[in-house]
Amino acid sequence: MKRNNRKLAACLTAALLTAGAAGVMPAVPVSAEIKTALYEGEAESCTVTAGGAVATKVYNDEYPGYSGEGFVWAGNSGGVSFEVELSEEGMCELRSRCRMYLGSTGDTRTQTVFADGEQVLSADVPNMGDWYDFCFGSFYLPAGKHTIEIGGAGSYYFVLYDTVAFGYKKMPEHKIAAAPCDKKATPETKALMQYLTSVYGRQILSGQQEIYGSGHDGNYEYEFDYIKDATGKLPAIRGFDLMNYNPLYGWDDNTTERVIDWVTEKNGIATASCHWNIPKDFENYTLGDTVDWQQCSYKDCATSGSTFNTANVLKKDTKERALFDEMVRMAAEQIQRMQDAGAPLIFRPLHEAQGNYGRYDGGGSAWFWWGDRGPEVYKELWKLLYTELTETYGLHNLLWEINIYELENSMEWYPGDEYVDIIAYDKYEGSPTHWGKSSAASVYFKLVGDTDDTKMVSIAECDSIPAIGNMKNDGAWWLYVCPWFDTYLTDAQYNPKDSLREFYTSDYVVTLDELPADLYQNGQIIPADTTVSAGGSTAQSSDAPALLPGDVDTNGAVQIADAVLLARYLAEDKGLNVTAEGKLNAELDGTEGLNADDLSCLLRMLAGTL
Ligand code: CA
Repeated sequence: MKRNNRKLAACLTAALLTAGAAGVMPAVPVSAEIKTALYEGEAESCTVTAGGAVATKVYNDEYPGYSGEGFVWAGNSGGVSFEVELSEEGMCELRSRCRMYLGSTGDTRTQTVFADGEQVLSADVPNMGDWYDFCFGSFYLPAGKHTIEIGGAGSYYFVLYDTVAFGYKKMPEHKIAAAPCDKKATPETKALMQYLTSVYGRQILSGQQEIYGSGHDGNYEYEFDYIKDATGKLPAIRGFDLMNYNPLYGWDDNTTERVIDWVTEKNGIATASCHWNIPKDFENYTLGDTVDWQQCSYKDCATSGSTFNTANVLKKDTKERALFDEMVRMAAEQIQRMQDAGAPLIFRPLHEAQGNYGRYDGGGSAWFWWGDRGPEVYKELWKLLYTELTETYGLHNLLWEINIYELENSMEWYPGDEYVDIIAYDKYEGSPTHWGKSSAASVYFKLVGDTDDTKMVSIAECDSIPAIGNMKNDGAWWLYVCPWFDTYLTDAQYNPKDSLREFYTSDYVVTLDELPADLYQNGQIIPADTTVSAGGSTAQSSDAPALLPGDVDTNGAVQIADAVLLARYLAEDKGLNVTAEGKLNAELDGTEGLNADDLSCLLRMLAGTL
């Protein structure tokens, strides 16, 4: 699909699901998806702009099924406009029961939308052979009176408007469970997840990817010095890549030491992707061979020419599986070192799997080998990796982050809620959209909707950082934004220094110095049956209760009900039954015994200020 109809297809899908078979559509209230209607009525009752006309047929063609007196025929340059008054600023959504009658089913005509004379949307209205509830999309408006116009410059007409609805958009509520998908997550990892969910939807964490290998002549601080010089701040999240620990040519560039230092010494948050390589000449490769890195590739096998068949990784006793097992073993060795040091990691393996699938008129291939056999193989590969690291290697310091695209079929690549903590989008100019400083709200809301708002959504890679004002106004509260290294950060066409400064100094952006001092201690409750290893880390035994700080009623989520229960418990309401696990979950202030300070911590957690 091309650009605009893809962005809007999600809205349309919902409308189609409510539509009947061919024939007269059942009446669909056009305000169904709008939170508060600011305008709702027959299109023919709007102001019909020059070139549009109120009609009941077009030439000799009848289009029955409209409501009211007829419809507005945008048959020439024209459409409809109407006035709205917003008592407060907000993200608004525009819908219309309309019909595109040109060509065949699936053909589209672009229609533009203007607010106060400025174009705010461009939408491709498809021919569906009938009337249907079409969502043009959403955009921000400040408080006050505004004129909304559909049609006009940039529109291609041949569209009939029956009714129009406009109002405040239903915004996500972000009720994300604060527990990691890994039930055995370490206390530090649970505490990190707790913190992330408390920030999500209120503030955005700053992030930055470091250079890998021997880039910048081995100066891994290049991007961070640049940010510090430009803004006086450092990012809360530092991005790493575990690519250099691999069975083919592995060398230790001290990535693991830098992860541990960033988390345990700098009190930052670490994330890592893995550009895992395979031999280009896989056919003549013998496990254990050293292969020059130039003879390796992480590209999809059609591009690299490798005979490596990703589907064979799923079969035991294949050479592909043996190499994969070795990759996982080497990665596990490094992740174990992090776990031993008490350092959680937002882990983003097998990233961008859908790659450019479907973007080149259906002939595109994946970016990387792990995606080049399609979604079914990919999902099993993800589950295999998850199971190997958590169960075989006993690694529980990971929050699992998966890259998902905004295409209609992107969720076919999603392995399931039980394997994922965070959904990531990698936003680059021209792939396929020129985002500029926009918040990429269309993608944000698509991804939020894909998991029914149960997973946090981040920009794990980007060039241009969206303007914080746009993210705030649009309600596109990405969990974090993490530019890629080098010129993706420093090129002024992406991140001019003044906009970088605006981002890093905004009250809505969390920087390294603003992370809570007890980021990894909050919730680091040591159950009686855990042991402290020689390295000083806490190792929770397998039968220890799965603790969730703040979850006093142990229902798996931290909610206001937990604070109510704790308050009643502290008030010695004898009728209550707070379990031993619930009491451990309520231990929040770092001192033993439950008291008002624990309640205060819990209330701050709920308010997102802890
Ligand atoms: Ca009408």
